[in-house]
Amino acid sequence: MAGLPAALSRRNLRAIINGPQVLAFIPALTLGGYWLGGESTLLILALVLPAFMALIGSGAAAQGDALLGLGELGQRETIENALEQFAISSTRNDKNTAAIVLELDDYNGLISRLGHKACNDIIRQTADRIRAVLRETDIVCRIDGSTFAVAVAPVKRADLETLIQMSARLQSAVSEPISIDASTVYTSCSVGFCLGARAPSKTGESLLEAAELALGEARQNGPNAIRSFSSEMLRRAKVQHDLLEDVSIALENGQILPWFQPQVSTDTGEVTGFEALARWHHPTRGMIPPCDFLPAIEEAGLFERLGEVILYQSLASMIKWQENGFSVPKVGVNFSSAELRNPKLVDKIRWELDRFDLSPDRLAVEVLETVVAATGDDIITRNIAGLASLGCSIDLDDFGTGHASIANIRRFSVDRIKIDRSFIMKVDTDPEQQHMVAAILTMAEQLKLETLGEGVETIGEHAMLAQLGCGHIQGFGLARPMPFEDTLDWMQKHRAKLAETPKIGRRTG
Ligand code: C2E
Ligand code: CA
Ligand code: CA
Repeated sequence: MAGLPAALSRRNLRAIINGPQVLAFIPALTLGGYWLGGESTLLILALVLPAFMALIGSGAAAQGDALLGLGELGQRETIENALEQFAISSTRNDKNTAAIVLELDDYNGLISRLGHKACNDIIRQTADRIRAVLRETDIVCRIDGSTFAVAVAPVKRADLETLIQMSARLQSAVSEPISIDASTVYTSCSVGFCLGARAPSKTGESLLEAAELALGEARQNGPNAIRSFSSEMLRRAKVQHDLLEDVSIALENGQILPWFQPQVSTDTGEVTGFEALARWHHPTRGMIPPCDFLPAIEEAGLFERLGEVILYQSLASMIKWQENGFSVPKVGVNFSSAELRNPKLVDKIRWELDRFDLSPDRLAVEVLETVVAATGDDIITRNIAGLASLGCSIDLDDFGTGHASIANIRRFSVDRIKIDRSFIMKVDTDPEQQHMVAAILTMAEQLKLETLGEGVETIGEHAMLAQLGCGHIQGFGLARPMPFEDTLDWMQKHRAKLAETPKIGRRTG
């Protein structure tokens, strides 16, 4: 952007004039005046210079206040109006505008780790950095928690490439380390933008909303992602909107139910459990996978209700397996952080287990590694510890993707780690993968944790995991998730297969 160096140098100049260092020049200037113009000049300079400094200083202070104002909320309308004006003037003079929306990644995590006061400082510093990257003609406001919106003043080449570069510049400014209370904090942000020419309609509101949709996609692919608005996003958002309307009814009338995917021991080949994975049988759209409807569940605030439905059905299935003569030691149920924040969770689970007369060790509580990693000493910690002391097993899901510390693994009484599929893929042919999995398994052995390899698709991966000493496996190679009725048939066949085939032995010693 051509105006950027000029804007920066003006800003820098103002900062220099306003800085205390400039006071050091006042004696020299007055002395110079005395030499050149005599006593009268000395008198004039001695009076005028401090007055001049005071004037400039107040101007710069006002500018500082305006920058601080950027940290304040509720300026959505300002951005919408600016975008609308920019869009109108763009069509007149062959230039283009764009809306950019930027949000700090995992801001809630930052709040729970550092507290509100420190996070206010982070917002303020982030605001300053964003401002410093933009031209003076661009408008920037904070529109929500850690979300900032930019109305890009019309420019000749506001195309995809320019906007990606601009977004990347914003990201690198935001990710500079921040000093808070003598410690250093690292932040990152996701960015969504919409080019004026691509907006669904020419209003400021439409441009901003389109950029927000793109931000939503960036966040899903984050951290630190950039997405540009496309009409496909609008279509997906419409589907989400429709699902949102149906989801609550679907939960109540049994359209959303768990499917089950088996887990087996690499030692014996026996089934050691099933993971319950939610599926929605939509009357018109057919079977919808969780990645498509969990966002609607979240938006409708129905994670707790989903959890109740899945848990009830999973425990009921344990009884039905038992009645059909199959021994299934455990059922794994995924718990979202919304559920884990319920202060009555432990009582609720105890009550459900009692109702089915199942001992707590028959339930494996699956918690994402990212949730454990981001959790301070709060209700989530107490709940997981409470479920562990009730006797449930705690499975750390997607292990390797979430940076949980060993201290947290200990604190949460984790029983088993579920090694993420990204480490399991091609583990039989890729030595890098083998080293990673071997390292994870050694750590687990030292910490006396059980292990399960997720997403095992081939016999080769299964055999390698067994050889490396991974205790359990789960994946399409064994079976895809299936409705309850199919599990009976699958187990029958699995039993028969076990009886006739030699086992893939697990490494011993
Ligand atoms: P997850 O807990 O990591 O579940 C494993 C996912 O990997 C499942 O996707 C499963 O179908 C898939 N998968 C299993 N084996 C393989 C394989 O060999 N190859 C590949 N490519 N994929 C495999 P699914 O069922 O689509 O679930 C996606 C995610 O949705 C789950 O990931 C879990 O985080 C979430 N989820 C599912 N059901 C529930 C639920 O009842 N409650 C909550 N809170 N989250 C759920
Ligand atoms: Ca899981
Ligand atoms: Ca997983």
